[in-house]
Amino acid sequence: MAASATSHKAKTVTILGSTGSVGCNTLDLIGRTPESYEVIALTANHNVEKLAEQARKFNARHAVIADENRYQALKDALGDTDVEVSAGAGALDMAAQLPAEWVMASIVGAAGLRPTLSAIRRGATVALANKECLVCAGDIMMQEVRDYGATLLPVDSEHNAIFQVFDFNRPQDVDLITLTASGGPFIKYSLEEMKNVTPAEAVAHPNWDMGAKISVDSATMMNKGLEMIEAYHLFPVRLEQIDIVVHPQSVIHSMVSYQDGSVLAQLGAPDMRIPISFCLGWPGRIDTPARKLRLREIGQLDFLEPDPERFRALAIAREALHIGGTAPTILNAANEVAVYAFLEGRIGFLDIARSVEETLARISASPLTCLKMVYAIDEEARAVARDVIGKF
Ligand code: NDP
Repeated sequence: MAASATSHKAKTVTILGSTGSVGCNTLDLIGRTPESYEVIALTANHNVEKLAEQARKFNARHAVIADENRYQALKDALGDTDVEVSAGAGALDMAAQLPAEWVMASIVGAAGLRPTLSAIRRGATVALANKECLVCAGDIMMQEVRDYGATLLPVDSEHNAIFQVFDFNRPQDVDLITLTASGGPFIKYSLEEMKNVTPAEAVAHPNWDMGAKISVDSATMMNKGLEMIEAYHLFPVRLEQIDIVVHPQSVIHSMVSYQDGSVLAQLGAPDMRIPISFCLGWPGRIDTPARKLRLREIGQLDFLEPDPERFRALAIAREALHIGGTAPTILNAANEVAVYAFLEGRIGFLDIARSVEETLARISASPLTCLKMVYAIDEEARAVARDVIGKF
């Protein structure tokens, strides 16, 4: 691919977590009009091969691998290029600090918080996919967005939909925001059937092709719980104004109900390239290869109440948001530990919500006053969650 560095119109971009599902979709869009972008930095955790291939193809100035043990492998893979190679958590932070106008924050989990804040602190436009950041440090992060004059654009399809139809000039006119949920692969399973589902079944999402962690979150519906907390921080609404409806076709991505009875929604094919393109082109719109929505071909759209008994995670997340302070930080950390334990076959599917609930019960929540506290609580909650899981 030809370098686009000379074009004065090229938008400078950095992708934190470029080797993941959201990162690859972002590069797919960039690769369709490469002359419009200049790639400053790409980052990954372990995946040297894919990172090196991307850095080479997109002529990135920097390639950063979080795992320091992979530094030499990345250096060797890019030895014949001008790409600057670095490794470690500090290098990840540095990558976010490099002067790219637009940063995609698509690292999975609380690990993305530090580099995302680094991009926010230099007033960048940050496309936020990494919802765990907002869940574990929402108030602090939003305060930093305001303090540093950064622009936060929601990538999550639900929040992106709301962002498109929310009247930010008249938030008092909004009655309710409704997040739609596909319900995941087990929407029709009984509790008994859910007990024995495997990681492979849980990551096989019916509508979306995503990374393993968010796929499991979708299957437990913790994803919708995390999104509820994300929505609470992104939009000027109270917790009681956030509703969830199961919509298995994933065509309506979310909606805003106004006091006059009007409901504004954003619809589209379930393809992450649509919300990513919205953020990449913002405030304009750009072409995507996504399938065009033809409602006639779909025929029917369904809506159901989420079942609180089979999808406990939703109620646990709502309660954590209601308690506030450190509770969402604990929820997020415990959930990350539980999801990976499930993926590694150490606990059953239903144990995920159980262990999160028990971890929350074991640590008393307190007001969240600073970032240092976020990191300390995150660490403590992970240790408690591991202990809880060990006793199952
Ligand atoms: P993936 O697991 O596919 O990718 C995660 C990316 O983050 C990879 O580049 C990975 O590198 C990197 N990474 C993982 N752990 C670390 C770490 N500790 N330090 C630095 N980098 C790390 O995730 P997704 O793309 O599916 O999701 C990313 C985020 O976007 C999540 O927060 C998810 O909830 C959110 N999201 C995802 C959607 C989707 O369609 N996938 C939709 C909406 C939101 P490596 O490849 O080397 O492991």
